[in-house]
Amino acid sequence: MSLKIIILNRVFDLTQQSEVFFIKSAKSKNGGKDMAVKISEQESGYFGEFGGRYVPTELLPVLDQLKEYYLKYKDEPEFQEELAYYHRDYVGRANPLYLASNLTEKLGGAKIYLKREDLNHTGAHKINNCLGQGLLARRMGKKRIIAETGAGQHGVATATACALLGMECIIYMGEIDTIRQHLNVFRMELLGAQVIPVTSGGKVLKDAVDQALQDLIKNRADTFYMLGSAVGPDPYPTIVRDFQSIIGQETKKQIYQQEGRLPDYLIACVGGGSNAIGLFYPFVQEQDVKIIGVEPGGIGNNFGENAAPLTFGNPGIIHGFKCYMLKDANGEIASTHSIAAGLDYPGVGPEHSYLKASARAEYVTVNDQEALAAFCTLSKVEGIIPALESAHAIAHAIKLAPTLKKDQIIVLNLSGRGDKDVQQVAEMLKQ
Ligand SMILES: *Cc1c(COP(=O)(O)O)cnc(C)c1O
Repeated sequence: MSLKIIILNRVFDLTQQSEVFFIKSAKSKNGGKDMAVKISEQESGYFGEFGGRYVPTELLPVLDQLKEYYLKYKDEPEFQEELAYYHRDYVGRANPLYLASNLTEKLGGAKIYLKREDLNHTGAHKINNCLGQGLLARRMGKKRIIAETGAGQHGVATATACALLGMECIIYMGEIDTIRQHLNVFRMELLGAQVIPVTSGGKVLKDAVDQALQDLIKNRADTFYMLGSAVGPDPYPTIVRDFQSIIGQETKKQIYQQEGRLPDYLIACVGGGSNAIGLFYPFVQEQDVKIIGVEPGGIGNNFGENAAPLTFGNPGIIHGFKCYMLKDANGEIASTHSIAAGLDYPGVGPEHSYLKASARAEYVTVNDQEALAAFCTLSKVEGIIPALESAHAIAHAIKLAPTLKKDQIIVLNLSGRGDKDVQQVAEMLKQ
């Protein structure tokens, strides 16, 4: 199999070259020699050296069209009003910034605030992005939505947005995942989506991505690819980050109202990185706010035992963009493991890769056992059952808070609720 990509009119064969380095340069106007030019992130699609588009040439016009429409509509008052309406009346925003005083007291250090994305309709942050992309698709005149899903959470959020907006919805899912996550398959079908089990390759997420991309290339005139995290080729990481930034924008207002100042720390779990970048982005310029992303440490530090590319990976190209990623000894995408299906991804968003490389944010790991313990702690102490993904962020806050002073403030993104995870946790606790 050969996967060809084109960058600056040069064709690279990804099967021959596992890494392609991109040099930003342009001729100066007076015909002088090459000079580096500063291109804004929005123009270039790069975050430092990360991001970009490493895709088959057929997809370039699709991405160009998406970018054109996105830049046209993102600040349009009517579009913003429509999105705000659905946020308020459908999702239930603004959700609270809740002072977890029981947990704070138990830990005896910094105050811990929880941004309650778990209270959103459908139980997590993913709906923020799906509604935004759904409204954008409508503006673009696209009536057919496709998506791929592994654990099923993005599939359910996509199917929900499509039901609301009256759009056709097709979800590609590896056959093995459809069996593991049969309840989510049923949810999607209830919501009117068509779930297509993918039987090629290993019959998991990677194969579903391939099939969804083939569908997009074939049906690009009327089809919109709804991407679920802050990953993928430009402009997706920017679009998803912007639609998730409502999390950080609300948090900023709420912490000023409740504390009269900014927090000392932000903490969020990182899978592809959408809930984290949504919280972080409005604070990146606030140099006094420390930013911590929590990756899944799984069961160990060896390849295949975790899904922590920012901690254990190196820069490389995966699914059409450059980021930190996990590669095995042969340079192939490594297999991954996490107790939390939503964090189980060998790559990570390009903006997180840049925040790490530039040392603006710190990335740490929390292992399966610590996440499981934090899942139980938050349930017992605050009466809030968190998603296993969010439990990674909680576990880190449990380590950090006691080392801080009582007048310091941590804001933690509670990305989702744990109803989906109680059966899995019950089985694990039995062992
Ligand atoms: C999908 C999911 C995540 C991980 O995705 P990000 O894009 O990294 O946010 C985290 N928490 C919950 C509850 C999820 O459903």
